[in-house]
Amino acid sequence: MRIDVVTIFPEYLEPLNVSLVGKARASGRLDVRLHGLREHTSDVHRTVDDSPYGGGPGMVMKPEPWAAALEGVVASAGPEDGAVPTLVVPTPSGRPFTQELAQELAGRPWLAFAPARYEGIDRRVIEEAAETMPVVEVSIGDYVLAGGEVAVLVIVEAVARLLPGVLGNAESHQDDSFAPGRMTDLLEGPVYTKPAEWRGREVPEVLLSGNHGKIARWRREQAFARTLAMRPDLVERWRRDGMDKHDLRA
Ligand code: SAM
Repeated sequence: MRIDVVTIFPEYLEPLNVSLVGKARASGRLDVRLHGLREHTSDVHRTVDDSPYGGGPGMVMKPEPWAAALEGVVASAGPEDGAVPTLVVPTPSGRPFTQELAQELAGRPWLAFAPARYEGIDRRVIEEAAETMPVVEVSIGDYVLAGGEVAVLVIVEAVARLLPGVLGNAESHQDDSFAPGRMTDLLEGPVYTKPAEWRGREVPEVLLSGNHGKIARWRREQAFARTLAMRPDLVERWRRDGMDKHDLRA
C-alpha cells in the first residue's frame, strides 16, 4: 500500500519509522511519503493560513498550497498505486473511525492524508478533491486535537496491521476487539501469560485445561461481560439488530 501525508509538520510523523509500521515500510509492504505543505507556498513567509471569512477566532488553511500539494501527490502516481489516491481528511466532524473503516481503508491501494492545523482547511479544497478522487473525512473521537497528525498516526497504524504479511501471526487481528468474524462487535476479554501463578494471583483454570471448546466459550463469555460493562451502547445495538448472531452458545 502507498501512503502520502501532506503536513506542515513532517517531523510529527517520525513514529511511522518505528515498530510495526516501520518494519512494514522496511519490508516494502508500505510505501510512506511525507510532503511539507510549506513547499507549496509562493510567498517569502511560506504562509499556509489566513483569517476566516465571516470573522471569528482562529485561522483557516489557505486553499492554494493544499491544492498544489495534493495535485503533486496525484501527479506522482506509479503503476501499482491506482489512478488516484483515496483522500483521508482527519476532522472532528468526520465519520467516526472504527475497525470497520480501518478494514475498508486497508483494501485501498493508495491513501493520501490531509491533516490540518488551526481551524481546518478551506472547504473548497475538499469539495474540489471530491470531484476527482474518493474522499473520506474521518474523526478519531469526540474531542478536539491541535492538529490532524496524531489522527494520521492512529489511522495508519490501525490500517497497516491489517495488511497481508504485516502482523507476525496472520490470525492475531481476527480476534481483536471489534474484529469482524468470531468475536463480532465484542470487546476482547482479559489475556494472560506465564507464570501460571504470580504474586498469589492465578491464571483462570480453564485456560490451563487444554480443552479448546471450553476455552473458546470462556473467552466469549468474558468478552460479552466486558462489553456489557464497558460499552452498553454496543449491547444496545445488538438488541436493535436482533441478538441471534451474538448468541453466546455460538
Ligand atoms: N475547528 C475545528 C472543529 O471544531 O471541528 C477543529 C480544528 S482542530 C483545532 C485542527 C485539526 O486537528 C482539524 O482540522 C483536524 O485535522 C485535526 N483534528 C482535531 N481533532 C480531531 C479528531 N477528533 N479527529 C480527527 N482529526 C482531528
